[in-house]
Amino acid sequence: MSKRFIVDSKNIKKVDNNISIFGDEAHHINVLRYRVKDKVYINEYEVEITEMDKEYVSGVIVGSLEEKGVPNTNITLVQAYLKSDKMEHVTQKAVELGAKEILPVMSKNCVVKLDEKDKTKKVDRLNKIAKEAVEQCGRTDEVEVLDVENLLKVDYSKFDAVLICHEASTNSLKEAINNIKNFNSIAVIVGPEGGLDEKEVEELLRNKNAYVVSLGERVLRAETASFSILSILWYELG
Ligand code: SAH
Repeated sequence: MSKRFIVDSKNIKKVDNNISIFGDEAHHINVLRYRVKDKVYINEYEVEITEMDKEYVSGVIVGSLEEKGVPNTNITLVQAYLKSDKMEHVTQKAVELGAKEILPVMSKNCVVKLDEKDKTKKVDRLNKIAKEAVEQCGRTDEVEVLDVENLLKVDYSKFDAVLICHEASTNSLKEAINNIKNFNSIAVIVGPEGGLDEKEVEELLRNKNAYVVSLGERVLRAETASFSILSILWYELG
């Protein structure tokens, strides 16, 4: 399959079957040495390049993208903010493992403290990483990193179910998955390096269809916990 480039609407001009793009992705197509007559995917279109230079790429639409790699269940990874480059790593892997959204949250035991300016900058950076991961893994949908919220202030009512990963729990993940198998949207909560606070877990359990679950007897690092739960859900829910 030709490579896919995801271009912001502000950098696209489309008139009938002709499409032109500007900005980062036009540059990216140049860097990858595509030439006139090559085919690429631009968002949902298959495009044959007819003209290009450093600043822009133009082409004609010759087809459309068939859906590929799009998960059946919308999984939102609610990830407590982790230190150093771990959030970036988790974001990249979550995209590959089928999360539909990533919602970074601040919780009681978060080691990282962010002010409003940091938050905006970090989320922009994480969205860039998510976009690259979408392109790299060949998913035909998009994955959004949402603005940082407080763990307990999130509106969980928009999800059909909430899975809370907690190392102190002995509840079976299998049973929880059996109960939520046919749901469309699931929030998966993974705590920070210092873990979720018992009071936070208690509060989160007040949401409808909320389950606190164990990923086994071993205490996993937060990022390992995220990769595991997403892989398990991907396997179980398709
Ligand atoms: N508080 C712990 C470690 C927290 S691990 C300590 O310092 O000993 C970070 C996060 O990973 C947890 O909040 C939880 O969401 C998840 N996690 C790690 N191991 C887990 C397990 N065995 N079962 C469920 N969740 C786990």
